[in-house]
Amino acid sequence: MKFNEQLNIWFVTGSQHLYGEETLKLVEKNSKEVADGLAKSINTSVKIIFKTVLTTPEAIYQTCLEANNDNSCIGLITWMHTFSPSKMWISGLSVLNKPFAHFHTQFNRDIPWTNIDMDFMNTNQSAHGGREFGFINARMGIDRKVIVGHWQDKEAIAELDTWIRAALGRREFSKLKVARFGDNMRSVAVTEGNKVSAEIQFGVQVHGYGVGDLVEHINSVSDSSVDELFDEYKSSYIIADKDISNDHFVKSVKDAAKIELGIRSFLSDGGFHAFTTTFEDLHGMTQLPGISAQRLMQDGYGFGGEGDWKTSALLRVMKVMANGLNGGTSFMEDYTYHFDPKGMRVLGAHMLEICPSIANGKPKLEVYPLSIGGKADPARLVFSSQEGEGINVALMDMGNRFRMLINKVNSVASPDLPKLPVARILWDPYPNLKVAAGTWILGGGAHHTVFTQALTVDHMVDFAEMMGIECVVIDENTTIPEFKKELKLNEVYYHIAKGIR
Ligand code: MN
Repeated sequence: MKFNEQLNIWFVTGSQHLYGEETLKLVEKNSKEVADGLAKSINTSVKIIFKTVLTTPEAIYQTCLEANNDNSCIGLITWMHTFSPSKMWISGLSVLNKPFAHFHTQFNRDIPWTNIDMDFMNTNQSAHGGREFGFINARMGIDRKVIVGHWQDKEAIAELDTWIRAALGRREFSKLKVARFGDNMRSVAVTEGNKVSAEIQFGVQVHGYGVGDLVEHINSVSDSSVDELFDEYKSSYIIADKDISNDHFVKSVKDAAKIELGIRSFLSDGGFHAFTTTFEDLHGMTQLPGISAQRLMQDGYGFGGEGDWKTSALLRVMKVMANGLNGGTSFMEDYTYHFDPKGMRVLGAHMLEICPSIANGKPKLEVYPLSIGGKADPARLVFSSQEGEGINVALMDMGNRFRMLINKVNSVASPDLPKLPVARILWDPYPNLKVAAGTWILGGGAHHTVFTQALTVDHMVDFAEMMGIECVVIDENTTIPEFKKELKLNEVYYHIAKGIR
């Protein structure tokens, strides 16, 4: 996935005039060094830019306004090098609409035991300057990330990197456009939701289209571009000898290639980075998009089956957050269980649409009938998935709030499944299948998820906090009684926090 846009995080330092010019110069010099050090250490395409040392309410207010108005600024890092009386921050923090991480660090790692004097103490006062800043944020009820540690400490840098990726997700969600071909799969509840609430909460726009609008794009694809893409398929995937010489196979794959080019053209014309399809509305199309949805996901597009715009949007956002990290990210569904007491597992798959970014080798390109939908046999990529830790994430509209549910899982080697004609993954959920599935169901977790091996629980928790939505984690520490309590407490919190609206 390519990003052309340069996005920035502003580094601002809090101080005050009391210290005198010389100390403030040193504060600025140290701040630049810390900001540059962080800029070099983080692992994202985002630039960390040292902005200024703030010593007056007017300057703080002005900087916050500038951050709001700068489209390339996706968040701020605040650091109290010295004491910075926090009433100065009230007007600025009242208007700031970008997320920020309060980095509770100090320039020196160690106390210089033999040389420390009062000058040193006065200049390096983060220990209580940060507390003053923390108080005003707590007093004003402002959600923010607090990261504690020396600025060269790997753990602190990793926490910052994680938070910056969450800020990237927030930014993407705020401008994302989802194209929805057809509506929801009839009678399905969890894929529904309030699109007005979603746009208010996240910024995401969901635009519905009759499938005929897409068919126009598909029909205007030239035969030569279909042939070109067919050649690309042949060089990218494993195709059985018996298939390549089979007319039915070739026709089906060429139809699929034509659909892929049509969807690409539609999405690119409309500035969409995510889409949904539904097998109940394919009028004028020869087959359900299989390989096209798979390849578009691999290119960074969000996708949701059966009209699932929330999962589609979430997938795109998570692809952006994961950009540059190892491991794939895909649309996913808990499909069927292995209830063997010696090792209970989940087989994840979808009818067709699993992203090849999680594949453990070169996918096979195959054509099989689909038992629902009543259309021609769709082409799809078939593969098993990479092993290792990952998470499943779902987003539900609970009526008065959005809930994000996260389950930590471990993807394991799958036995040969010679008769299963779809991409698949086998995982052990944490803490075990019984508790994981029990809590997931108690929490109203969707059957559609985004599976990722690039992002961690921490990324998604930071992201959910930044978006102001409920977030519940199922991991090695989860128990059913505690989980139930958490849901009940959240019910009260979100009821009250929302006020009278
Ligand atoms: Mn589904």
